[in-house]
Amino acid sequence: MKAIFKSNLSEITNETRLMQQKLRIIQVISQNGHGITVPDICRELKISAPTGIKLVNELQTEGFLSVVGKKETQNGRKPSIYALNNVNFYALSVEILLKRITVGIVDARLNTIYYRQKTDFVLENSPECLYNVESFIKECLENSGVAEENLLGMGMGITGRVKNETGDSLTFFNFLDQPLGVHLSGEFNIPVFINNDTRCVGLAEKIIGKATKANHAIIINLSRGLGTSLIIDNKIINGGMGFAGEFGHMQFGSREKMCLCGKKGCLGNDVGGYSLEENFMEKIAEGEKTIVDISDDGTTVRYDDILMAALKGDDLSIRLVQEMGYKLGHALGNIINLLNPELILIGGKFAKLKTLLLDPVKTGLSSSALVNPLQSCEIEFSELGDLGGLKGAGALVFEYFELIKK
Ligand SMILES: [Zn+2]
Repeated sequence: MKAIFKSNLSEITNETRLMQQKLRIIQVISQNGHGITVPDICRELKISAPTGIKLVNELQTEGFLSVVGKKETQNGRKPSIYALNNVNFYALSVEILLKRITVGIVDARLNTIYYRQKTDFVLENSPECLYNVESFIKECLENSGVAEENLLGMGMGITGRVKNETGDSLTFFNFLDQPLGVHLSGEFNIPVFINNDTRCVGLAEKIIGKATKANHAIIINLSRGLGTSLIIDNKIINGGMGFAGEFGHMQFGSREKMCLCGKKGCLGNDVGGYSLEENFMEKIAEGEKTIVDISDDGTTVRYDDILMAALKGDDLSIRLVQEMGYKLGHALGNIINLLNPELILIGGKFAKLKTLLLDPVKTGLSSSALVNPLQSCEIEFSELGDLGGLKGAGALVFEYFELIKK
């Protein structure tokens, strides 16, 4: 099956030309998202009807296509409609966050047909951690029951700085003597595509989420950390070397805190789960009361619990979340002035707060954004859920093979 995806452009023989035409038919049907007829294929590929029929027949025999119906026409002829047998195309997708790893199998429509998540995982820049990651991926692949023959490749979203074109992860697993993507490709014997975790979320939003129709959008991924994905002129922006969208390191935060990057004033130090936990414990030390469970030794709290408590009406949690929302909105207003997005999508674990977060974000936006660009920008919450990043990682594979429309 994979042979068709490896047709060599540099070696033009009758056989490779045939393979390329078949691949193009698969791509056209997959990008359309619905079945098409032989006349449609002939028009799209600029090939004759006999060639079109021959190629479609072969693809049917090889198990790629099936007839799913007949097209009604005015002249009475009813050409068959062909659709892809999607079971043939899967991507192995991996999302690696600071404290969570998820491995899944997604199809070309980005449906998750299998996934497993490890929440007792801690991402470290060490060979042991990489070994654990590889073992977990292998274990999941085996459990999924999907034949390796049907895997087109692996897509990986990983937190930190990533050079997507070369497959380099610069923040984690940077001790290898080759790019992480090249290393994994050798380990798993499939092509591997890597990008930053939030950019994968952005890609999923663009393909199947609320940003499908937006040409200019900012996707905010707000969980433990603050990530951003930019869509400009209908394209996910990677930047010159793959480092674009570091909104969390823009200097909109307080100057008192030192960021992991070595600078003071990074917004990510004031907005996100880490900061919420810190601020919360400061207030507890000052004697404030709450319904949130604090650890037995009274020193730590989980930001997920603070978010849940805010939804249940806990006064302290609500105040801290709202302060955070205002800071986020104020910083985002500057980005609205710079890029004039038509949509800001807020995703991640904070998205469950809905109006509790949205109201202070809007107040913050009004304090910094110009009236016209702000009026033309919709602020919405993502509906992709927790698996958005995993789906986006899988999309890296289908994007490469041109099986999905960008
Ligand atoms: Zn920073």
